[in-house]
Parts: sequence; C-alpha cells; structure tokens
Amino acid sequence: MKTLESIKRELKEYDGKDIKIMEVCGTHTSSIFKNGIRSLISSRIQLISGPGCPVCVTASSYIDRLLEYALKDNHCVLTFGDMMKVKGSKLSLTEAKAMGGNVKILYSPLSAIKAAIKSPDTQFVFAAVGFETTAPIYALMMEEIIKNGIKNLRLMTSIKTIMPAVSYICVNEENIDAFLCPGHVSVITGSSLYREMALKYRKPFVIGGFDGEHIIAAIYEIVRQISSKEYDMKNMYQSAVSSEGNQKAKALIDKYFEVADDYWRGIGIIKDSALRLRPEYKDFDAGSTTSEDVDITPPGCKCTDVILGRITPAKCPLFGGACTPLNAVGPCMVSSEGACGIWYRNSEV
Ligand code: SF4
Repeated sequence: MKTLESIKRELKEYDGKDIKIMEVCGTHTSSIFKNGIRSLISSRIQLISGPGCPVCVTASSYIDRLLEYALKDNHCVLTFGDMMKVKGSKLSLTEAKAMGGNVKILYSPLSAIKAAIKSPDTQFVFAAVGFETTAPIYALMMEEIIKNGIKNLRLMTSIKTIMPAVSYICVNEENIDAFLCPGHVSVITGSSLYREMALKYRKPFVIGGFDGEHIIAAIYEIVRQISSKEYDMKNMYQSAVSSEGNQKAKALIDKYFEVADDYWRGIGIIKDSALRLRPEYKDFDAGSTTSEDVDITPPGCKCTDVILGRITPAKCPLFGGACTPLNAVGPCMVSSEGACGIWYRNSEV
C-alpha cells in the first residue's frame, strides 16, 4: 500500500522519539482493530484511545439521579441501551429495573415523544447523553416537546463537548504527540477549531475518515508533520467535514443549550465542556450534569488512565479477568464506544 510505504520512508528520516497518536473517537478505535492497522504500521507509532465515549465520562451521581426516577412512582426513565449497565455509586439501571424500576430502552430519541403522548399520566425522564453529534437530535426533541405542548417529558442531559477535553489532555498529558480528530463530531463543529488547537499546542490535528485507508492516510500525514516539525490541522475527510461545520445544527443547538462547566467521570471538572439546557427551558430539565457532580471509581479500575491515554486497556490489571463486558467493573468496558470494551471484543484475551 502506497501510504504505508510513505510512512516507513518518513520514519527513516525521523530520528525523534516514538510517536503517540490519540484517536478521540470510538468508531476510529473499532476501525483500527477491524483493519489490523497496529500490525501494519511501525512499532514506533503507538495508537491510543482518548475520551471519545460519552457514557464513559458521565458522572456516577448522574446515574444515581436516573435511578431515583426509575424507582419513583409514576415515573419512567428512557435511555439508550449503552447506559443500562453502567453503575452509579451502587447500582445500574439494569439492576434498578430488576428491582421493579421503570426503565425503557429507546432506539431513537424521537420515540420518547411518542411514549409521552401515549401515556400522559406517566412522568418520563430521557437520559440525553452524548457529544456534539447527538446534541442536534436532543435540540430537535426540545422543538417537538414544545410544539406538541408535552408536559410529561423532561431531559436529563449529560452532553459533553469534546474540544475542551482535548485541550485538557494537551495541557495535562504531555505524552500525546498528535490527534486523529473525531470524524462525526467534526461534521458538526467544523475543522477550523482544530487549527487554533494545532497552533496553540504545537501538535498535528488530522481529521480522517473511518475506512482503513483513510486512517492510514491520516497517520501518514501526522508522521509527515512531526518528522518535518510542522504542527497544523489537516482535514482529510472533506467529503463530510467543512471548515465551519453544520451551521443549521449549530444554530439549533444554540437555541436550546448554553455552554457550561461540567464534571467528567475519571477526570474532574473541565471548563466550558458541556451543553446544558438554557435557563428559559429549566422546566424541561430533570437534573442535568453540572460541575458539582461526583464520581466513584470502582477499586482497581484504571478508566481514568485509559480515557486520558496514559495506558492501553490491556494494561489495566482487571482487563479480561475481573472485568469483561459481561461483568464490567468500569464504564469503559460497558459501552459499545468504550475503549476497554472495543479492545476486549477485538483481542484474544
Ligand atoms: Fe476499568 Fe475494566 Fe477498563 Fe480496567 S478494563 S480500566 S476495570 S473498565
């Protein structure tokens, strides 16, 4: 493959330290495994996962609040499947359901509207967890709730924005040399923000597609920049990502949400890292995340180190033994986008 040869050629000329590239998005992590990219590229390049799993970074106190609603008379929690097995301080939603709690899994957020209209006597709480990618859908939900005059459906949001987390990593985790930027998030945010980051932190930020060839091409661009001491943003996913992003989606997000500080599970408070319902919509807010949320890390779990790219999941002593998808200790093993779960499903443990 031409790009693989180009990577080898660049590395021949490069006499610096080994290169650590963080892929921020779980879909990239899965594709890296699916295409065997680690075995194709040089051992001088380390690919490491980042904080790209929204369920993994949602505080346990948020899950505790959902549990309270699930167990409350006349209430029903609506959620995507990924949230079901993540533990709060003691229990998960799956366990609350087994105790008689009212929890329903949704496949589309808009089906929450139908559920609320169909059962007007039930108070529904929708767990709106995600990044910039799902924020427009949650904004659309708000449009529908208001348009239909629905009074028995509220959102409990944990909507994070990825760029402040990446900035946090640039400032606090010196070992990351470059970023393979999250493709889906970039469709909404646009590529221009990454240029500021690349120049500020003097690291390559490359936006790549999800096919194996696209990822290898993005890795080549990162190696090329590092070996020639260039630090810039390069958008190699122009078919989907524009410079300014999806303006319509951004306007819709802006109508309902404002930027706020937030608590990230395993990390702590990150400034301006959440989208929270604006004060004028507080009646639709069932207790969204704030910087006052708290977290309990299960004993022995290294999710913080995994999320911050300090270790690969396989370096956690519990990986594949005490912690598996069937018996997950930490959130990174539970979610389909969590690094530990992806590593487990794709490794021969
Ligand atoms: Fe936490 Fe399990 Fe991942 Fe270890 S393998 S970091 S215990 S989720």
